[in-house]
Amino acid sequence: MSTAKTNLIGLSRDELAAFLTQMGEKPFRAKQLWHWIYFRGETDFSRMTTLAKDFRIRLAETCSLERPGVTTELRSEDKSRKWLLKFDQGHEAECVFIPEDDRGALCVSSQVGCTLTCKFCHTGTQLFVRNLSAAEIVGQVMVARDSYGEWPAPAGDRLLSNIVVMGMGEPLMNYDEVAKALHIIMDGEGIAISKRKITLSTSGVVPLIRRCGEELGVKLAISLHAVTDELRNEIMPINRKYPLKELLAACREYPGADNARRITFEYVMLKDINDSPADARALAKLVRGIPAKFNLIPFNPWPGAIYECSTPQAMRRFSGILNDAGYSAPIRQPRGRDIMAACGQLRSATERERLSRHKARIAEGVEDNH
Ligand code: SAH
Ligand code: SF4
Repeated sequence: MSTAKTNLIGLSRDELAAFLTQMGEKPFRAKQLWHWIYFRGETDFSRMTTLAKDFRIRLAETCSLERPGVTTELRSEDKSRKWLLKFDQGHEAECVFIPEDDRGALCVSSQVGCTLTCKFCHTGTQLFVRNLSAAEIVGQVMVARDSYGEWPAPAGDRLLSNIVVMGMGEPLMNYDEVAKALHIIMDGEGIAISKRKITLSTSGVVPLIRRCGEELGVKLAISLHAVTDELRNEIMPINRKYPLKELLAACREYPGADNARRITFEYVMLKDINDSPADARALAKLVRGIPAKFNLIPFNPWPGAIYECSTPQAMRRFSGILNDAGYSAPIRQPRGRDIMAACGQLRSATERERLSRHKARIAEGVEDNH
């Protein structure tokens, strides 16, 4: 990696203009450069033919357009793709693309690990490492666009049409970098994915939900997963700080939520923990008055998990009760099972493999055990 060069990816428009001014260029050059970087996805300054040649040379000497490194790219039979990406200092996080019939959503990570230790979540059991920077968050979208060859891509005719901030990490615990990245991604002269096509998923960092609505206006998904504070405190420790009442009040006030832009309540189906008909009825009651829909997520087991996934019958019954109460409540179909699309699994599988290789080498006496 070139440490001396400035990575232009992840700079806001204003920062890019200021940087060019420092280089002695006119600020309007930022607009041209932005177009090359984020609309055309150009990675080579020398091919930015609308820029003066000597400017291109100076850019190449001092700047980079660096994407995260790709440790692994997996392609599923169902056309999902998943990347294990390598960031500065060798930190890794995942990014997965799930195609739908006429579009597709890229699930991006916001942190390496997570501080919030939800009991059912594999990421929550891994050590928190660090926040991802705006460059690293935007970089995930760029890697995916590179992989699908979607530069430039007319809006409405692209596979990568939606973004869900639902990968590793809690986006609202890294609000500033996530917000900066989303502003870049939403910019109409670049990647141009509109706020209507972006969903941010949070476990409920209440004070930042409002800011997210006012400043970003993206769609909201709430990881609810329990209908009582008692259970939610146990499986999602953040609930002790921001209990259900406060969380639901923030949802009621979320700017821009209406019938066309409902709040998605995610509900992970845990066998005999939160999946009874009484839970389903309580859930419908809890969200009354909020423009809501549900996403029932079959629990994805991981080694050492203390939960099991609800039975198909229990999930269908749960979904049916929500439907009868007037809510859409599909059971999320496992996609990309063959590429381990669930949160955190690829990273830990890779780590396990490394560890076993490491142990094998120690056994062979090739490597010291440190
Ligand atoms: N931190 C954010 C976004 C990342 S988690 C949040 O919690 O919303 C994305 C979604 O995956 C959340 O709804 C989370 O609860 C869910 N999830 C985590 N571990 C899971 C597992 N093992 N099986 C199914 N869903 C899981
Ligand atoms: Fe963090 Fe979300 Fe996992 Fe909870 S579910 S530990 S908030 S990534």
